[in-house]
Amino acid sequence: MTNLVTSVQTVASDHPDEPAVVYEDTEITYGELWAQTGQFAAALREAGAEPGDRVAVYLPNLPQFVVAFHGALRAGCVVVPMNPQYKSREISHLLSDSGAETVVALADLVPFVEEVRDDTDVETLVTVGGEADAGTPFREFLTAGDDGVAERADDDVAVQPYTSGTTGQPKGVQLTHHNLASNASQSIDIIPDGIGPGDRQLGVLPLFHIYGMTVVMNATLFGGGAYYPVPEWDAQTALSLVEDAELTLMHGVPAMYNDVINQPNAEDFDLSSLRLCGVGGSGIPVEVLRRFEELYPVKIYEGYGLTETSPITHFNSPNWGRRVGSIGKPLEGVHARVVTGDFEEVAPVAEGPVDEDAVDTDEITGELVVSGPNVMKGYSGLPEANREAFTEADGQKWFHTGDLGYHDEDGYFYVVDRKKHMINTAGYNVYPREVEELLFEHEAVADAAVVGIPDDRRGETVKAFVVPTPDADVTADEIRQYCLDSMAEYKHPREVEFVDELPRTTTGKVKKHELVEE
Ligand code: AMP
Repeated sequence: MTNLVTSVQTVASDHPDEPAVVYEDTEITYGELWAQTGQFAAALREAGAEPGDRVAVYLPNLPQFVVAFHGALRAGCVVVPMNPQYKSREISHLLSDSGAETVVALADLVPFVEEVRDDTDVETLVTVGGEADAGTPFREFLTAGDDGVAERADDDVAVQPYTSGTTGQPKGVQLTHHNLASNASQSIDIIPDGIGPGDRQLGVLPLFHIYGMTVVMNATLFGGGAYYPVPEWDAQTALSLVEDAELTLMHGVPAMYNDVINQPNAEDFDLSSLRLCGVGGSGIPVEVLRRFEELYPVKIYEGYGLTETSPITHFNSPNWGRRVGSIGKPLEGVHARVVTGDFEEVAPVAEGPVDEDAVDTDEITGELVVSGPNVMKGYSGLPEANREAFTEADGQKWFHTGDLGYHDEDGYFYVVDRKKHMINTAGYNVYPREVEELLFEHEAVADAAVVGIPDDRRGETVKAFVVPTPDADVTADEIRQYCLDSMAEYKHPREVEFVDELPRTTTGKVKKHELVEE
């Protein structure tokens, strides 16, 4: 049986003295982690929690997140991770939709829970750090534990993260023990020699998000490595930690790597202990990858996935070779296809990436659909959304990713853009990603995002938001002309606006709807 808890139990009994979680001056060994998750599980049981009950975790990356997460699973409960940047209005939906009766919250965030508590089922509040007006401090909550692990079936839900999807309220994504344990193992398999004791992994990706939860935290713990949580992203802190603690692995979103290369003292850091850097969450501009690899003796390997797929489905593993600009090949056990609106398969191109100016991209692209052990059970309580999300064909249940892409005969996949981000200008399709890639090649551009804005004549028109480098001396017209010189006229941004910074989610995705609304 693949169970998230028993996998960590095995590591704890094999390597009780190895470090599992290292945060500032605190080191928690696997033996200690196992003891603490037992205490947390026992405390939950004493508070009346039963298998299947929801436990919301409203914390930044801290050791207590790891203990609460694995402790709740040991009690058979379902973890509902909540973004610690959320305020009362946002958590109100998550708490009521999930029916969480327990919340583990950072003391500073307790007022947001208190504000909405009466409208939810929350009975138990556990607080972490600082002084809180309500709830039980984490340390006091822990109860003398036992070695028990609640029986859970493979397809019992273990974690229910929320994802906003295309429209409306965030949807609860039901990920089972089997989904998550499979993807943690798959995340280890894509790294040469796997992950083992002696590996030290940087934990800058937020744990409430599936990428940080599975690929960073759980893969590290499954393998017996040490996980170094970092509560808040800051390039200087992260780079110093990698250097000082001689970390061996890191994963980040493209915006983090872009931040790193734009540090004035980027060259001063010694990152030679790193053996692999992973990236995902959105496509990394080729230029950002290239500049990072000029600075440091480590390569960035891009992967792809979604919350609904636990998350990784594709990776450019060194085990099978990377192709820059590609999201890689499907992981072992994952099936992937590119399909039309009628679910017809789109044939692969001979070899990617294609020259998007030489090929009619619309002819070779379709929606990426996937199936595999890591694909969610379904959205919680949303039959209509589930009908739209899945198609049964050839004995498989295919999940619609909502991403447009193509694949090549060697099995590499390429994401062109998100379906909903495609711009239709006077009947021509423009994929913002292609324009963004070009912008990143301009020396005066530190960051860029391209959106379609309403236009009376063309329906939509292409607009670029550009963050200039600190000493840049460039005009909007020069940027516009630069694009026009290198791409078809209909693709170039007719409008260019300089901004100080782009609105991004905590996981580095540009909030394009905000740019459009502006
Ligand atoms: P989330 O559910 O927050 O993990 O977001 C999933 C979405 O992130 C996918 O549907 C893609 O649109 C995007 N994404 C993830 N990885 C990549 C990648 N390597 N390239 C392009 N888009 C990506």
